Amino acid sequence: MDITEITARTLLTRSRIPGVEYVINPYLGCGHGCRYCYAVFMRRYARHHAGSPWGSFVEVKVNAALLLRAELARKKHRGRAFLSSVCDPYQPAELKYRLTRQCLEILAEFGWGISILTRSPLVTRDLDLLTGFPEISVGLSIPTDDDRVRRVLEPQAPPIGARVATLKKLRQAGLNPWVFIAPLLPMNPARLHELLSPWAGEVMMDPLNYRGQVRGIFHQHGWDHALTDAYARDTRAALTALFQERERGC
Ligand code: SF4
Repeated sequence: MDITEITARTLLTRSRIPGVEYVINPYLGCGHGCRYCYAVFMRRYARHHAGSPWGSFVEVKVNAALLLRAELARKKHRGRAFLSSVCDPYQPAELKYRLTRQCLEILAEFGWGISILTRSPLVTRDLDLLTGFPEISVGLSIPTDDDRVRRVLEPQAPPIGARVATLKKLRQAGLNPWVFIAPLLPMNPARLHELLSPWAGEVMMDPLNYRGQVRGIFHQHGWDHALTDAYARDTRAALTALFQERERGC
């Protein structure tokens, strides 16, 4: 992994994502290197890695905390920030640089709300901070139950079992975590439901949007069926029915 430290010009960015006012991306690039990643376009903004393969580099915004403090001080109203929209805020570089943690400390100090979405157990390192936020939502991305699929499509991201264990820890800490089943990868919906059901407060789903990016890989592994609209529709329907049944059971 090629890690480069950079000085960013801004950190807090206005967002057009529904329900999200601001986004914070402490890193440019993502060490998880998901093959279907929608954020690949961010390479064009990289200072030192414009032509590098996605997942092979990270540019670390080492002045993130300084920028965020100054930007929040200029805001007239408190808001809510989402970490992160084009990187994983708990990707491996966070273990050393702790930029996400620093940002959370500052957001807490200014009384802002937060939403977090990650694939990493590292999020539990910050439970001491997370449990103190009056407005918080924490989500885990778990797009399949099958670790063989994960190894192919999310080669550097944490195993599925570790994510489920993280979900459990967040739940036990009193944080009602949600799960983003996105994109809908090849899976066994009943098995995924079984894994998530005890710990997930809510579940959201999204189909695979950038199919051309992974068509060759899917073909190579015999997953062509999972690139169709019918697969997305049927998988969503199967998962929805299973989770609705759970609701009725409760
Ligand atoms: S964790 Fe998210 S941002 Fe990172 S490579 Fe995977 S999909 Fe892209």
